[in-house]
Amino acid sequence: MSNGMEHSAEESTRELLLNGAPSMLKWEDDDMALRAAAIASRLPYSKMTAHEMGCFPDLSASEASMRYYLYLRNRLLQMWHLEPNIELTLDDALRALPKPFDSDRILVNRVLGFLSRYGFVNFGIFFHITHPVTLSRPKKKVIVIGAGMAGAAASNQLVKFGFDVVVLEASNIMGGRAQPVNTEHRECGRVRFDLGCSFINGVVGNPLTVLMKQVNFSPLPIRTEMQIFDEFGKQISTKRDQLLEATFVNISDSVDYVTKERNVKTLFGKPMNLNDAYDHMANLLELHVRKTRLQYWNQYDEVVNMLADTQKQIEIYEETIRTIGQKIEELEERKGSQRFSLEEQTLKRCLSKELEKALAAFDQATERYANLQMALSNVKKKEPCVTYMNQRDLRLLDFYKALREFTIGGMLQDVSAEHWDQEVREDNEANKFAPYRISDTIYTLIRTIAAKDTIQLEHHVTRIEYNAEGVKVHALIGNGDKEEVFQADCVLSTIPLGVLKKSVSANEARHNGHAKENGENGTERGKQEQIPVFEPPLPKEKVGAIEKLGCGSVAKLALVFEKQFWDAATDFVGHLNATRESRGEMFLFFCHQNQPVIEIFFSGQAALSMDADLESTTRKAMTILNQIYGGACPKWPTNIYVTNFTKKRTHFGTHSYVTPGNDGSEYDVMAEPVKAKIEDEYSGPERVFFAGEHTCRAAPSTLHGAFMSGLREAARIADIHLGCPFARDKEPECIELEDESDDDDAILIDDENQKSRENSKTPTDAATQQIEDTTHTDSQSVQKPAKAEEMTLEDENELLGIAASGDSQNAPAPSTSESVEEVAMEAEKSTEEGEKKDQGDDSTALDQLIAEHKTDA
Ligand SMILES: Cc1cc2nc3c(=O)[nH]c(=O)nc-3n(C[C@H](O)[C@H](O)[C@H](O)COP(=O)(O)OP(=O)(O)OC[C@H]3O[C@@H](n4cnc5c(N)ncnc54)[C@H](O)[C@@H]3O)c2cc1C
Repeated sequence: MSNGMEHSAEESTRELLLNGAPSMLKWEDDDMALRAAAIASRLPYSKMTAHEMGCFPDLSASEASMRYYLYLRNRLLQMWHLEPNIELTLDDALRALPKPFDSDRILVNRVLGFLSRYGFVNFGIFFHITHPVTLSRPKKKVIVIGAGMAGAAASNQLVKFGFDVVVLEASNIMGGRAQPVNTEHRECGRVRFDLGCSFINGVVGNPLTVLMKQVNFSPLPIRTEMQIFDEFGKQISTKRDQLLEATFVNISDSVDYVTKERNVKTLFGKPMNLNDAYDHMANLLELHVRKTRLQYWNQYDEVVNMLADTQKQIEIYEETIRTIGQKIEELEERKGSQRFSLEEQTLKRCLSKELEKALAAFDQATERYANLQMALSNVKKKEPCVTYMNQRDLRLLDFYKALREFTIGGMLQDVSAEHWDQEVREDNEANKFAPYRISDTIYTLIRTIAAKDTIQLEHHVTRIEYNAEGVKVHALIGNGDKEEVFQADCVLSTIPLGVLKKSVSANEARHNGHAKENGENGTERGKQEQIPVFEPPLPKEKVGAIEKLGCGSVAKLALVFEKQFWDAATDFVGHLNATRESRGEMFLFFCHQNQPVIEIFFSGQAALSMDADLESTTRKAMTILNQIYGGACPKWPTNIYVTNFTKKRTHFGTHSYVTPGNDGSEYDVMAEPVKAKIEDEYSGPERVFFAGEHTCRAAPSTLHGAFMSGLREAARIADIHLGCPFARDKEPECIELEDESDDDDAILIDDENQKSRENSKTPTDAATQQIEDTTHTDSQSVQKPAKAEEMTLEDENELLGIAASGDSQNAPAPSTSESVEEVAMEAEKSTEEGEKKDQGDDSTALDQLIAEHKTDA
């Protein structure tokens, strides 16, 4: 199948899945059902991924064996998605597979082993039929630090794989950035909502959809269209809002085009950040409007001058006509009653001819004059706007910038202009669709999947020691009076990026010995904040990635009222702030449909500098609500909640992002495990593993990204410590579950064997390396690395061309100082009339650029 066809089949399946997922998966043996199953698992339906090829080198050798594998894989995925509440066992799979696919028990077991190990099937909360065969005794021990989504997902998998797991969580509640409010309410009985993370991005291809199915939570769609109010409580017209939203999209698309397609990396000699890129683009558009206006007035001047010239000519012709007329009259008078002499006759004929010529020239000049007057009145009608955006438009544009800061979780000036949309660009289905809420809290979802008896709350990790023998993790218990030391074979850190940053700088301060932060000794401060330290310190690649990634904030104020006083038809209400600096302060209100709760968001600078005084923050929020809802709004809420992870010692920030000059590969480095240090080299066995949203390049800063990172690391730990469930000639690894507590049936392997397995490369590593080697040679011979460029005048013109283009996706360039709507109408009119323009066409160059861009695209 051609790529195009394949692509459209993917798209349509995705659409179908979105609208009727479960029934589609039931279309047995149907191509679409298998395609749907692959999409739901984020795997390409008709291709083996590099990872799969690495794990099944024997099957990726020929087209036929690849097809065989893909059919098996997609069928197993389909079986799992149809019934994710029950373990998919080898026997069930064999029973359900058609002939001849049911004949190769070993191969089916290998594929099932692969899918189970990497979290494509048999993950989450489901009824276990088999239990894992422990490959070593005593069981391998893993310490997981942090009981957020990543820690919960990893612990769940690790226990299932047969590890002895302990989860150390600093807080007195699990959930991490997903914190719940669950409180009694006089009117509704109970209100429950999430104080931290509250939305799930997309149903299709999101592994959290499977979890929700398993626990019977239903997705609640969110209506993203919203009403926006200014600082006086006046609603912004929908037309103006739509125009400005389209303008923002237009500006953003142009920045994407220049940075991603044209490889422009720097602006004013510095790596380009999103704020400068947007501002620069808006300035270019402003400049474009001014240039157009200048051209317009030059044209206007030209027509006026031509009019004056023509007027002068008319006057001259009039004078000429008068003079010739007088001469003819004089001739007639002189002649009297006599006949003209031959000389007079000749003179009169000459004068008559001249008169005729002068009259014709006069007629032409008057006609030209009339035409020029008409042209002038036409030109007057096309007077371009004075400015691109007026102050009001700019504030609305700021609202959209605040919204972007909210989705990224950082200030635009700190974010890479090219890689701000890391998650959307990666092969990550979940983000391509609208967000939704769930019928319970996200915290409940996390609590349900966590392996509960493994979690130790109020265990604040302060020190992680690792060497060739294993790991020792020190934790302060309760209020910090007591310390406990845990030992294991390895440790999985889901410690958030903000804390890792503090750990790295505390370590630097300690090593430099002289560093003073704000007058305090770095180490002392580290101790006060109980910042965890790694011993030995993390290798420099890891430290580099921690330092390079950005860590920003999103904060929330939640107000509970006696009863709802808002319009239940919209979920979101936008609010414009008075200044550009405060754009992210209470800029977005999420009004619950089914309970009297409003969540109010802070993004960008406003999230970082959120007022610690809850009463004054609430007063501000109530003033805004009063302006919008007037008398319907009560004076004060019944309950007030706030989340601000920025200053919490367990977080120091909420979202990771790519900073200017970096490309997102830092996420991959973050995900790499750290080996024990032997002499001066980190060359021992892998001891410290990393999960968490900040390690998931495909979906950073999201709940599902954290979840996937937990599955990934559990698989990696199992690969290293338990070996490979999908190697050739592998016997089934699971046995029928009779008594969960009884693992006497476990197959034992001796310690020697296990050690040699640990020291050898994992099968995945080896295979991946093999693929990397091949890809490397190929790409070297075909592709030259793209050259990074500074933004030039040419680029700017190009950027301008794209932003000013008015195709279906791109907005017409606004705006007048008076009314955006007028300009929108004018823009439409001028597009229609554009081709007919008889005056010098000022947009030819622009059109050429646009055409070039479109051809490029
Ligand atoms: C206000 C807000 C809104 C959000 N909205 C969304 C959204 O709508 N959709 C979305 O997909 N994502 C959203 N997110 C992001 C999402 O919540 C996170 O990406 C995700 O929860 C991160 O999970 P994690 O397991 O990586 O980290 P965390 O959930 O932060 O877990 C890390 C855990 O480690 C613990 N810990 C830290 N230090 C120590 C220590 N020294 N010792 C022991 N334990 C320690 C912490 O207490 C914490 O429990 C939002 C986040 C916030 C703050």
